[in-house]
Amino acid sequence: MARFDGKVGIITGAASGIGRAIAEQFAREGGHAVIADLDLDAARKTASAIATFGPAPLAVSMDVTDEQHVEDGVAAAAERFGRIDVLVSNAGIQIVRPLAEFPFSDWKKLLSIHLDGAFLTTRACLKYMYAQKSGSVVYIGSVHSKEASKLKAPYVTAKHGLIGLCKVLAKEGAEHNVRANVVCPGFVRTPLVEKQIPEQAKELGISEDDVVRNVMLKDTVDGEFTTVEDVAAAVLHFAGFPSNALTGQSMVVSHGWFMQ
Ligand code: NAD
Repeated sequence: MARFDGKVGIITGAASGIGRAIAEQFAREGGHAVIADLDLDAARKTASAIATFGPAPLAVSMDVTDEQHVEDGVAAAAERFGRIDVLVSNAGIQIVRPLAEFPFSDWKKLLSIHLDGAFLTTRACLKYMYAQKSGSVVYIGSVHSKEASKLKAPYVTAKHGLIGLCKVLAKEGAEHNVRANVVCPGFVRTPLVEKQIPEQAKELGISEDDVVRNVMLKDTVDGEFTTVEDVAAAVLHFAGFPSNALTGQSMVVSHGWFMQ
């Protein structure tokens, strides 16, 4: 029997990058993956790919910053599969600018996707998890949940904030057998990071190669990017852990960039 046989997992932002890898691995281990993303076409493509090797997936259109969208998307998943066992709050963006000139609209946009999105999806899923007396929520934080970098004020703020949300849910959820944890990746070469390389090069006045070597991977133990598979393995470890022994925790997956 596979680890997630018969389980239902909603993964936000699963049409791309890290979220997609989590959805794929969850399905490989027997789970019904619900691919919730702003980009419905891409979510459908991910679902079609998963359907070739895993149990029936579901693609849902979801803007995680929109309360009604989130409620409707989670309800559609629960209606289709009858339960919600796992939520991976993963949808996210990056905007890099110096703090002194950060546009307020971009600050609010980034905080809304990372923090409002985590809150709204959590609240919507808890209704089902509390009723069934089980569930596991995994937030995708970052090394920036623990550390700061220049140019990333709202991102660092939001990723630190997810640790607080996780700890509250760990306390409130315990009596309902619901756990919460955070996975904190280092740099992973997804579209989110590809976009940042030329942007950081411009802001810092250095080459793209220098951004990769001397900014992104400088403090790793081996100069390597973390992979989407590495992150998925850590997420599913938390998602599948069977007791409250592992709740309210955060795990850094970063080639030693940050050591606790
Ligand atoms: P990505 O750009 O490859 O994928 C992000 C996905 O989120 C996309 O499919 C996008 O459509 C979706 N999305 C964006 N806004 C949304 C919204 N409002 N509602 C629903 N979906 C939305 O990015 P990624 O690198 O896979 O990042 C995933 C998560 O991992 C993010 O939270 C990011 O902060 C975090 N993270 C990434 C890295 C990295 O190096 N790539 C490192 C640490 C943490």
